[in-house]
Amino acid sequence: MSSEHPTTRSAALIEHARTVTPGGVNSPVRAFRAVGGTPRFIRSARGPWLTDVDGNHYVDLICSWGPMILGHAHPDVLAAVQESAARGFSFGTPSENEVALATEIVARTPVDQVRLVSSGTEATMSALRLARGATGRSKVVKFAGCYHGHVDALLAAAGSGLATFALPDSAGVPESSAGETIVLPYNDLGAVEAAFAEHGDQIAALITEACPGNMGVVPPQPGFEQGLREITRKHGALLISDEVMTGFRCSASGWYGAEDSASIEPDLITFGKVMGGGFPAAAFGGRADLMAYLAPDGPVYQAGTLSGNPVATAAGLATLQACTPAVYSQLDSVAHTIAEAASSALSKAGVPHVVQWAGSMFSVFFRDEPVLNYADASTQDTAAFGRFFTAMLEHGVHLPPSAYEAWFVSASHDDAAIERITDALPAAAAAAAAER
Ligand SMILES: *Cc1c(COP(=O)(O)O)cnc(C)c1O
Repeated sequence: MSSEHPTTRSAALIEHARTVTPGGVNSPVRAFRAVGGTPRFIRSARGPWLTDVDGNHYVDLICSWGPMILGHAHPDVLAAVQESAARGFSFGTPSENEVALATEIVARTPVDQVRLVSSGTEATMSALRLARGATGRSKVVKFAGCYHGHVDALLAAAGSGLATFALPDSAGVPESSAGETIVLPYNDLGAVEAAFAEHGDQIAALITEACPGNMGVVPPQPGFEQGLREITRKHGALLISDEVMTGFRCSASGWYGAEDSASIEPDLITFGKVMGGGFPAAAFGGRADLMAYLAPDGPVYQAGTLSGNPVATAAGLATLQACTPAVYSQLDSVAHTIAEAASSALSKAGVPHVVQWAGSMFSVFFRDEPVLNYADASTQDTAAFGRFFTAMLEHGVHLPPSAYEAWFVSASHDDAAIERITDALPAAAAAAAAER
């Protein structure tokens, strides 16, 4: 089976979009540059299904890159959004929903307080400013392959296995900004020790994805998280755990609290994705004594016209409230069923691959050895992934359009959705195997 309908409307839309928006998209990965083909313009979505403007249906394995953990248009979330929107969209004053959402986040995670913002990028940017304000230091350590949004100082990943003062990854980021960033290989405690031995008294913070998911899923090796906690503490630097992707997905709290996690207590944590329920809402939080550095109590300025937006916070709160233990065990079972089906189809077709996990979050690397860091991840056969992706799409399954992404499932992925995936897999695995 190929697509039910042609994709003429999507093709016409992307062509027109390119005349009014750079590349035709508002976030680069959506342009399908890594996989080729026509990006599908989605008109509607319900549960695990996406419907494009040409009337094709796809099982969704992007789930908006994580937020749609309950599936699309979940009735409880929809009701909360409708109820809130009917009372007005934004006030620019304090409102009740934002207090309720903050209370839910504080109850689920180790932070004492959170400040709400509108995107994960804003959360990490603000956490970094807070860390610099609280320590009076300027340098920051990050890991190659960890993505923290498009913050100037964090858009640097060019590590070559040794500690390097980063060159910016993007035009428009001044060297003075990326030059304060030290990029290290993930899962290499020796490199962290060496960087802190040399620059420890100038480092404001080490930021890491709680469990990396933006180079594919790369869990911390045993002892790595504890090592980061000890080294940062010893040198008076803050440990910032970025849970924008993992928060409220890997467990009721996030990677913190997940079965395989060391659950070390970071100084600051950033959140996003799931906690917005599909709306623009994110947060950063931590110990009360650190959060007290923020305006209006303290000297670190941070603000937002739409921060704590009533409709977005209603969606986030309803989503978190619906994320019950039953939902997490459903996610786990759906994820394992899909990952095992994919792995077995790829094995049958003789395609080298490895599946890596963080709770119910997983990714499939197109190489046969475990991936410990970004250098490993970059040896994948991305061309094979591209053929696999395209065949899955043709057969009605929409994967993330990049080999470096987690596959996101929702609790709404039911038998019909799983059957569509298992039906699509043999042809896609064969396509991946071709030309090898
Ligand atoms: C998605 C993501 C971000 C950025 O969030 P945006 O809402 O896209 O700005 C930051 N950190 C991590 C770990 C992410 O996965």
